[in-house]
Amino acid sequence: MAVHVTDLHVLRDQLVARRQRLESAAARTHTANVLQLLDQVDRALERMDSGSFGVCEDCLGEVEQERLIADPLTTLCLGCLTPEQARALEADLQLAARIQRGLLPPEDFAGAGWNVAYHYQPAGLVSGDYLDVLSHGRELFFMLGDVSGKGVAASMLMANLHAMFRALVPTGFPLSQLVERANSIFCGSTLPTQYATLIAGKAKECGEVEICNGGHLAPLHLTHDGARPIDSASLPVGLFHDQQFVSSKIQFSPGDSLVLYTDGFTEASGTDGAEYGPHRLAQLLHQCAKEKSRQLVERCIQDVLAFRASSQVGDDQTVMALQFSPVQN
Ligand SMILES: [Zn+2]
Repeated sequence: MAVHVTDLHVLRDQLVARRQRLESAAARTHTANVLQLLDQVDRALERMDSGSFGVCEDCLGEVEQERLIADPLTTLCLGCLTPEQARALEADLQLAARIQRGLLPPEDFAGAGWNVAYHYQPAGLVSGDYLDVLSHGRELFFMLGDVSGKGVAASMLMANLHAMFRALVPTGFPLSQLVERANSIFCGSTLPTQYATLIAGKAKECGEVEICNGGHLAPLHLTHDGARPIDSASLPVGLFHDQQFVSSKIQFSPGDSLVLYTDGFTEASGTDGAEYGPHRLAQLLHQCAKEKSRQLVERCIQDVLAFRASSQVGDDQTVMALQFSPVQN
């Protein structure tokens, strides 16, 4: 079975709900398009009930799980698409990639006395990494996360997180409550086996940074005497509906930086098969702790590039640096 059993139930429920909406549309419009779609939905529901859902109609192999989640009406594996279908899929992906790039904040961002720079590189056309920075009042909010899975299904969840935080930040809820609300919406709108690790943070003009870390790799606090991980214990987002999240506050001095990254960065493998690892990243950043945020990001990219065995990027890679640069009076 290409799709997890629990997910299959949720996919089925979603499809039944969509069928009802389609049916009422069909009653009003009777267009061939709607009727054809209704037929496709019925056939997908039959496949779910008969146990043949996710089996390629052509080669009887498995249809890729990520594609089934993104589109449960899919009936062919990637290898069995006609050249025309493959071209249409490629065009869809290109469009998804354009939309995703449009969701990213400006590459160099300044607000509330902080300078932000980042690097965002999908492994394929689209990424399951989530990154955003926005000013609200006299505070700077930053988010960085990693959605389970890859491809279009993961990028849809990334877009989901993006929209949720953009809507939640202006409500003025305390940081941990923002994450709790995002978690509960995320739980309600995704499949049971989908989740995301996520850091949400708030930086103030006085140098105080509040961080809520939902199961993500510890960010690094760079000071004049090195790079220190900021540990925390919350679970990833999307596991349980009523999950609670905690936040902690750290005081930054002028020139200090905060570096956040996804595991595609530290799990890059070198010529001997060894992983790049958080330790090497911390050592590198220790040596250049006082550099500007853009330079810090460039250093990270160059070091991982030099370490990596091949030019092949196996996973989505994101790194973000925020430097406390208050205006001096
Ligand atoms: Zn096939």
